Amino acid sequence: MNYMSIDFENSLDNYVYYRGRVALYEILRSLDIKAGDRVITQAFTCVAVPEAIMAAGAKPEYVDIETNGFNMDVVDLQDKITKDVKAIIVQHTYGIPAEMGSILSLASKHDIPVIEDCCHTLKSKYRGIRVGNFGVASFYSYEWGKPLVIGIGGSAVINDEKLNEKIKLSYEGLSSPSILRKIRIQLQYLAFSSFYRPELYWPIKYVFNFLGNLRIAEGNYHPLGGDYASEEFGWKMPTFLKRRLARKLEKLDKQTNHSNWVSKSYRNKIKKTGLTHPKTDQDVHAVFVRYPFISKDKQELIENAKTSGIELADWYNTPVHPLSGVELEHVNYKIGSCKNAEKRCNEVVTLPTNQFVGRRFVERAVKFMNSQG
Ligand SMILES: *Cc1c(COP(=O)(O)O)cnc(C)c1O
Repeated sequence: MNYMSIDFENSLDNYVYYRGRVALYEILRSLDIKAGDRVITQAFTCVAVPEAIMAAGAKPEYVDIETNGFNMDVVDLQDKITKDVKAIIVQHTYGIPAEMGSILSLASKHDIPVIEDCCHTLKSKYRGIRVGNFGVASFYSYEWGKPLVIGIGGSAVINDEKLNEKIKLSYEGLSSPSILRKIRIQLQYLAFSSFYRPELYWPIKYVFNFLGNLRIAEGNYHPLGGDYASEEFGWKMPTFLKRRLARKLEKLDKQTNHSNWVSKSYRNKIKKTGLTHPKTDQDVHAVFVRYPFISKDKQELIENAKTSGIELADWYNTPVHPLSGVELEHVNYKIGSCKNAEKRCNEVVTLPTNQFVGRRFVERAVKFMNSQG
């Protein structure tokens, strides 16, 4: 076991869970996070993150994102640090590495551990170092829409010896999902891998939501209630998914090259005023899980993409996706508290970069985006 330097491929046997949020929950518990503690996360995230924080008994505290980006704003982070903050979760949104330099120096000044949310990327680098190497721990997810899709699942990679001892102990006590659950995951995976291609995004999304509402499909989001410590938080990854993950990891480099080619094509060929590409600088090397744009006409773009059969995703739509209104209060998000995140929700659209995106789709997407407005 090689936990002191991240070698993701080798960490596979270590800590693999039913979902990414379970990995986060186990990391938080191993850091002795408890009732009354606060855990910082960014707004413009998904409900999985506050769900894990609350399952551990703590309260999520939201930091706004950068004015023109999708990641944590360091100035706002500084304002939100109090003596009750016991961990900082840093998200590398869409695969764009966060400003780790200034975040880490702020965190170490206050002696607060940093956890990296690597659910959108396995291969991005910050100043030449792969994400997941900066914090005391990092976590990953393998469901739909993530860089590696195995159906459902997550993992934790630990960079700290003491933390590792604790999480190992807890891991031994976890159980597995029921056989029915496994069958459902398997059927869903088979359906997804037979039908998905970017051209069929909209009808598949429609069917999946329909089945999810009927509770036939395993959705990504639970209805929010008072009880966050649902049984899923006690589950590891079933063996058949571990094997699938091992097989997918072998193709990770090839997939990364493909994603880089697709993103580069979008960046070079989509030249429309009113569409802002993600910013680049020499510190960051992003491997995009999806390629984001900031647009003034989000709703119109989405509607047009639907009629043209172009996969164009709208997440995140709310600061704690997909919650809105009073549901946001349940996860301790106050509307109006993170202005940039709320604004970005009304501006962001993303194109796919996965291995099903071929040359033809790229051409159609480029033509579509350039014809808007
Ligand atoms: C997908 C995702 C997670 C965790 O997802 P699970 O459904 O628990 O596997 C956490 N954070 C981000 C940013 C994600 O996109």
